[in-house]
Amino acid sequence: MVAAVAANCVVGVDLGGTKVLVGVVDESLGVLHRIQHSSEAADANELLDRVAEMVDEAIEAAPQDVLGVGIGVAGIVDAKAGVIAASPHLPLAGLPFEALMGERLGVPVALDNDGNTSMLAEWRHGAVKGASDAVMLTVGTGIGGGIVANGALVRGSTGGGAELGHMVVEQDGEQCSCGGYGHFEWYASGAAIGRAGERALAAHPDSTLAAAAAEGREITGTLVTEMAHDGDAVCVEAIVEVGTRLGQGMVSITNIFNPQLIVVGGGAIAAGDLLLDPAREIVEHQALASLGANVSIVVAEFGADAGMVGAAVLAFEQLAQR
Ligand SMILES: [Zn+2]
Repeated sequence: MVAAVAANCVVGVDLGGTKVLVGVVDESLGVLHRIQHSSEAADANELLDRVAEMVDEAIEAAPQDVLGVGIGVAGIVDAKAGVIAASPHLPLAGLPFEALMGERLGVPVALDNDGNTSMLAEWRHGAVKGASDAVMLTVGTGIGGGIVANGALVRGSTGGGAELGHMVVEQDGEQCSCGGYGHFEWYASGAAIGRAGERALAAHPDSTLAAAAAEGREITGTLVTEMAHDGDAVCVEAIVEVGTRLGQGMVSITNIFNPQLIVVGGGAIAAGDLLLDPAREIVEHQALASLGANVSIVVAEFGADAGMVGAAVLAFEQLAQR
């Protein structure tokens, strides 16, 4: 437990598909220093060196001794073995990442999947604190998952489970970043909001969104979200479309896990209730009756920091056990 370690800091690392976020985190989960860079790299060595440099910088910036480093990685992680089994977005597949980073850094390292670290932050200290059954969806470029069932994180037989973004939701659907087809994250992620915006502007050539596109602005989930908050009806409609798909996935999740809470984090949460209200409505009407009535859909407390802060929680907890 966090409180078991006296007056120390750890470094939390969120190694995502597009960025690396590194933070010095104290025992009350305050973020004392943060560093962010791109995670794009030509090969594994370049990326290992960059992450190690960022962590070294964080260790130097820390006001106290750093006890160790927790890392959450976007990919299939065998946390027991400390190995990244697969990662669609990073050149790290098959690497004993925990040992390699430990050698480079000279401090203890703990490794897990970023969906699990995000859930750890929310479960221990955030929006689903104390829940026995809860599901986290990290809705950004893709969709990450974290599951707590019967009071324990669900990892599966080899640690690769809880990949909720890769549920098949569409027969003969679009190809996913993982190589599969018709997966949930294609239809319900932040990137899906951008794609829904592109379809909406094609259907509404006189819209403000179409005017923005004509000015050369890239139609991203972020832009569509900003314009929706400004009241643009075409953008609101695009977000409602994605929120509806998000809700359909949550219906399956609710029927399978019967959670008390579904917590939503990731960049797409900037859309707020514009995204979540349609999802809530679908779950209320389409999930099995008593299950749909029992589940609350809530926003992550740690926001975009959840993966990094959760990696710090992982470090505190694992290092206290060693
Ligand atoms: Zn997939």
